[in-house]
Amino acid sequence: MKTYWTNYHSHSHYCDGVESLRAQVEAALRQGVGVFGFSSHGPVHFDNAWSMKAHKLDAYLAETRALKQEFSEQIELYSGLEVDYLPGHSGPATYAARLDYTIGSVHYLDLNEAGEPWEIDGSTEKFMCGLTEVHGGDIRKVIGLYYGRIREMLQSDPPDILGHLDKIKIHNLRSRLWDENEDWYQAQIDETLAAVAASGCVLEANTRGLYKKNLSLYPSLPILEKARRLGIPVMINSDSHAPAEITSRLARTALQLKGAGYKTLRILHKGQWQEVAFDEEGLYL
Ligand SMILES: [Zn+2]
Ligand SMILES: [Zn+2]
Repeated sequence: MKTYWTNYHSHSHYCDGVESLRAQVEAALRQGVGVFGFSSHGPVHFDNAWSMKAHKLDAYLAETRALKQEFSEQIELYSGLEVDYLPGHSGPATYAARLDYTIGSVHYLDLNEAGEPWEIDGSTEKFMCGLTEVHGGDIRKVIGLYYGRIREMLQSDPPDILGHLDKIKIHNLRSRLWDENEDWYQAQIDETLAAVAASGCVLEANTRGLYKKNLSLYPSLPILEKARRLGIPVMINSDSHAPAEITSRLARTALQLKGAGYKTLRILHKGQWQEVAFDEEGLYL
């Protein structure tokens, strides 16, 4: 049996990625990808720099469908979105009926000091402003809000795939704000993993931090080890924002997951969610 890579988390010029959907497919083929999912940032109810504009959604869906047909002999393609969970406004269920799958991510947490949605996935400078001015510098409180919001999504509007679970750590280089090993932080992780297990979502091991920020995987390997003990299904995604990034660090991550005891990955293949064996060369499709 041959090995192929899969990647269900990818961006393009419909949102903040570079180059067309077609360019992503052509690059995926060159990089040995057998199953590829489009997952632009879904529209949100306010203006931001990186989400798809609402008026582009129909064109995006039509183009992904056309590419699926055109490339059906060469690669399995799926049409998804990375959806922000914004209670009262939108979440995975807002778009799910029109898609093959949803990735649910928390990039915003309530409001910042200016009364705008507070981005936890943007610059550390802006994150620190919100942390200091709205939350009195109380990082434990903010971490609790962040993981609490993820649990709320898992319980009330679960996606197919949970996006970059511990991404808030991008502001914690050299553990400047908190120590990931402390009991209170691990308690948040444990409670959240229990919610992931109960939801049936697939947890992604997202490699973007490895090749973009010189950080670790999202989530960190010890969290993935805990997830395995809970029987949570996992897939590996690159969260690519350019064709060249589609398979970045997938091989290294596959090796690490093997080392952590994972024997299979949960993927969408031939229209079904299923467990597939893998090694550092790819998945056995
Ligand atoms: Zn994201
Ligand atoms: Zn993404």
